[in-house]
Amino acid sequence: MEQRQIGSGPSATILGFGCMRMPSDVNEQGESTLRMDEAIELIRHAIDSGITYIDTAYPYHNEMSEVAVGRALQDGYRERVILATKSPIWKLERTEDFSSILSEQLEKLQTDHIDLYLLHALGKERWQTVLDLNILDEMLKEKAAGRIRQLGFSFHDDKDTFYQILNGFSDWDFCQLQMNYINTDFQSTLQGLYDAHAKGLGIIIMEPLLGGKLADPPEVVSAMIPGDPVEYAFRWLWDKPEVSVVLSGMNDKAQVDHNVALANQTFEELTPAELAHYEAVKAVYDTMALVPCTRCNYCMPCPYGVHIPGAFEAYNITASKNKSAGRRLYDGLDLDASGCVGCRACEEVCPQAIPVATHMPVIEEYFSK
Ligand code: SF4
Ligand code: SF4
Repeated sequence: MEQRQIGSGPSATILGFGCMRMPSDVNEQGESTLRMDEAIELIRHAIDSGITYIDTAYPYHNEMSEVAVGRALQDGYRERVILATKSPIWKLERTEDFSSILSEQLEKLQTDHIDLYLLHALGKERWQTVLDLNILDEMLKEKAAGRIRQLGFSFHDDKDTFYQILNGFSDWDFCQLQMNYINTDFQSTLQGLYDAHAKGLGIIIMEPLLGGKLADPPEVVSAMIPGDPVEYAFRWLWDKPEVSVVLSGMNDKAQVDHNVALANQTFEELTPAELAHYEAVKAVYDTMALVPCTRCNYCMPCPYGVHIPGAFEAYNITASKNKSAGRRLYDGLDLDASGCVGCRACEEVCPQAIPVATHMPVIEEYFSK
């Protein structure tokens, strides 16, 4: 599998393993429990299949993802990978919390250093916390001490905020951005990605399949895409030399095998006609995007029991398929949008900045007719 250098840092395979969608059981309240043995086996399977980039984070799988990664990386696996994890900015109340949480992560991951360390899901408010608590200086100290090798951030906010963060620190080594052929004008935007690369940052991609949506396109899009929609989506990203690693949150061995087979191919550079085809497919998607929920589950559990991503999935299906397909899903939810009291707790954690409390009454009314 092709390896690319991440900025001026280490090299890794163009396909990375994201540890946020590993095998787990979800109860009626939307709480997820990681199936630890299966997760460890899956991570090792990915590494044995050639993947050298492993991406996890403090909160994934109720704070158990890092534990699974730490266990999977025993027996010589740690030396075979570039390991990335993220600082949970929302848990930092004092400056010293940064280093104590890093210590906790190193312990869970059973390692003495993190190869790529990110400030997790920065946006306006979290960036202000970073500045208020002098976290950038703490990062530099930890880098000098060798506990962190490369400094970066992942990002979910608007373009102006992206440039504030990009230009607000001169020691970024890399950044992790949501990008796919649908999201070129969203969050950092594609131009923001190019500008970050021009400043020397390595580029890691998240949500290449938009929470799986691009892997299972509606019929009208399917008919336009030549062949495998996953290959179609990955190829657009790998075609860009600015992109180092494309993360995929794989949840079973079949997905790993499928994605690895794609990454092992050699692709010709996309032609202007092929790039125009992506634009045409995006234009169709743009007419169907009711709610940009990626089903990341960050907002769950809702304190009032609403199955938020489930309600959005049912609603979105009505655009790509039909109302009865959406209604079947909606009727199967334990508590649908009618349970929403508008507290907006979910909106504070939603990386896509979805106004959930505004959508819920609309969805409830739509399905009540
Ligand atoms: S706004 Fe509605 S869906 Fe969101 S947490 Fe509050 S009750 Fe739940
Ligand atoms: S509403 Fe937001 S936080 Fe909740 S699953 Fe969708 S994208 Fe994730």
